[in-house]
Amino acid sequence: MSAVTEPTAELVDTFGELYGHEPVGVWAAPGRVNLIGEYTDFNEGFVMPLALPHTAVAAVARRDDGVLRLHSADIEGPVVELAVDSLTPLSDGGWAAYPAGVVWALRDAGHPVGGADLHLASTVPTGAGLSSSAALEVVTALALNDLYELGLSRRELALLAQRAENAFVGVPCGVMDQMASAACTPGHVLHLDCRDLSVRQVPFDLTADGLTLLVVDTRVKHALGDGAYAERRAGCEAGARALGVSHLRDVPYAELPSALERLSDEKVRRYVRHVVSDDHRVERVIALLDAGDVRGIGPVLTEGHTSLRDDLRISCPELDLVVETVCAAGALGARMTGGGFGGSAIVLAEAADAESLTKAVQEAFAAAGYAAPRVFPAVASAGARRLR
Ligand code: ADP
Ligand code: MG
Repeated sequence: MSAVTEPTAELVDTFGELYGHEPVGVWAAPGRVNLIGEYTDFNEGFVMPLALPHTAVAAVARRDDGVLRLHSADIEGPVVELAVDSLTPLSDGGWAAYPAGVVWALRDAGHPVGGADLHLASTVPTGAGLSSSAALEVVTALALNDLYELGLSRRELALLAQRAENAFVGVPCGVMDQMASAACTPGHVLHLDCRDLSVRQVPFDLTADGLTLLVVDTRVKHALGDGAYAERRAGCEAGARALGVSHLRDVPYAELPSALERLSDEKVRRYVRHVVSDDHRVERVIALLDAGDVRGIGPVLTEGHTSLRDDLRISCPELDLVVETVCAAGALGARMTGGGFGGSAIVLAEAADAESLTKAVQEAFAAAGYAAPRVFPAVASAGARRLR
């Protein structure tokens, strides 16, 4: 698929034109989709992302004069030049804040990063809920880890990348996206415990089962998204406080009914029900995959969508239309994935039905007067790596 080939040679050429010397290496980090476990990461619960074949690829050279130079093939504009010792959090640096934030987070943690020249290009669609931002952060972190021989683990790099996004860019995201980009492996979905960041690579070879996981990027992003995330997060924290636990992860699924009875706020009750039941859905999906019943996870995905739509209320008409359309047209299951209010949905289906389902979604979108969605298969791909 041409959309996901890694443009290494061109990247290296452009690096040379921009900076007047060769890069030392080229690194890649993927975007992701999350199979199940939504808004659970900051509740110290469970998630199950898989890496996409789409990657951010960066050609990078170390420099030790305190200068950081950044350029993206995907953004109009000149090289951004910054001094590493005067990087300032929340200074609204546009796209460059993501890689600059990683340099800042590394230095703030005491790692001796003295500068770099970086040029990148990415095939991860931006703002589609597929985590182009984490891909950008993680590719930067991995390159600097190698160039400065920092010896940091994937887990440490993911945490530093998350810190960059939280504290430097100013987006209060959980750790799922960065861990997915840093730690996923081909042919597996990553079962991640967001409390201790322990991981299990769960085999996820849909082709062998005659199945496919389609991503439907609705190409819409409703403005509500940013404030709504913070509001849901605050509501979950209020729920945990009211229930006397540090995080909603500590509410066992068996105790959900009695926990809900103890919550007086209707909204908080809905958020708690979503988070606790989605953690449970992760367990159910794991059990089904371990038992070899991949088709069995379809209904669990659709149940997850209903919970996101009705309890967390982060879906939107476009995402609901995808799920309704594919379920009516014979998919095994579907749900919105990522932060919501637009972005992408995933669809589990028989591989033989991929074409007819794609057509059904395209027709439904056209009939509703929506722009054409982008549909592609999510093949569980490699996490961040050095390419050369
Ligand atoms: P998502 O991570 O879901 O794609 P975000 O809003 O979190 O959406 O991150 C998107 C932002 O990341 C872009 O607005 C841009 O600042 C930055 N970004 C992503 N990909 C690139 C790229 N190829 N070049 C430059 N900046 C990028
Ligand atoms: Mg993002």
